[in-house]
Amino acid sequence: MSSFSVGVDLGGTNLRIAAYMRTSGLLETILLPTRLSAGRHAVIEDICHGIHKLLANYSMKHELIGIGIGTPGPLELPAGRLHNPPNLPGWDGFELRAAIENCLNIPVTVESDANVAALAECVLGSGRTLGIDSLCMLTLGTGIGNGIILNGKIWHGAHGMAGEAGHTNIWPDGPACGCGSNGCLEMYASATAVRRIALESARSGRAPAIAALAETKPDFTTRDLSHLAASGSPDAQQVFDDVGRALGIGIGDLVNTLNLPLYVVGGGLANAWNLFSPALFQEVRHRSYVYRLTEPGSAVLNGKIDTGTRIIAAELGADSGLLGACILPYTISEQRTAGTPDTTLR
Ligand SMILES: [Zn+2]
Repeated sequence: MSSFSVGVDLGGTNLRIAAYMRTSGLLETILLPTRLSAGRHAVIEDICHGIHKLLANYSMKHELIGIGIGTPGPLELPAGRLHNPPNLPGWDGFELRAAIENCLNIPVTVESDANVAALAECVLGSGRTLGIDSLCMLTLGTGIGNGIILNGKIWHGAHGMAGEAGHTNIWPDGPACGCGSNGCLEMYASATAVRRIALESARSGRAPAIAALAETKPDFTTRDLSHLAASGSPDAQQVFDDVGRALGIGIGDLVNTLNLPLYVVGGGLANAWNLFSPALFQEVRHRSYVYRLTEPGSAVLNGKIDTGTRIIAAELGADSGLLGACILPYTISEQRTAGTPDTTLR
């Protein structure tokens, strides 16, 4: 009997629940709005109702290998307890894993959305393409998510809170961040930050093209701004140069610390990769001697069969969080079989 999994991608706006098989990919996906205003128990009911529906459709023919849940953090593992998550207001202290398990009467695995996105990128995206099973991924969205995969396993740290590189410091006296610090990477290279920086430059009078965009479309997106830059606006390009520079500082620190073979930039803003990556690479080369020594074609790699340190845009798009939640139960099952379970997972 072939196995299947159920994955849940819980977001602040959308809730997606899917059945998945390794051989066939996504079998069926349920898409719902996340009913935050109806209270967290309404959201848990929606999650459990969707899981029950998929179990009814597939568990007669296939064996359930497990249920994976990806959620916005901060998340404490293995308890599956949320700590004041910015994208789930009012959920501070909520025992997400226990709430879902009490409703379903089936064990589930809870994981942060950035970690499952990194897992998916490693197993199904650029990691698979390059034959690499360790990577560090930054997801540029409302904030900056981060996941670290080491030898095919999510690196959790001691309390499940590893991978918060969005809150590494870029400028000590920079704008106040939601985490309590100032000048975090998230304040310079998230989609939210790009809009803020663009509006600041428009208000300063230095960026007439952005001011015109903000005038005609006050709720302009990072995509609108990237179109403006791609059409040749130096004002808009300057914003993406600044994004690339901040990312280059952050990733340079990560390269120096981790010396992993692969760093991946994902999330909606990664669509502007061609606009910000030249400044990113310039900054990484300046900040990280580890990168200079190990980038493709460098001296350390001379004559060796090695891909070197790669920094690339993510292969997987908006499905990475959902796919990661779906493959999580397979990964855990393999670790159990291999006798190397990660005790923080459950
Ligand atoms: Zn921060």
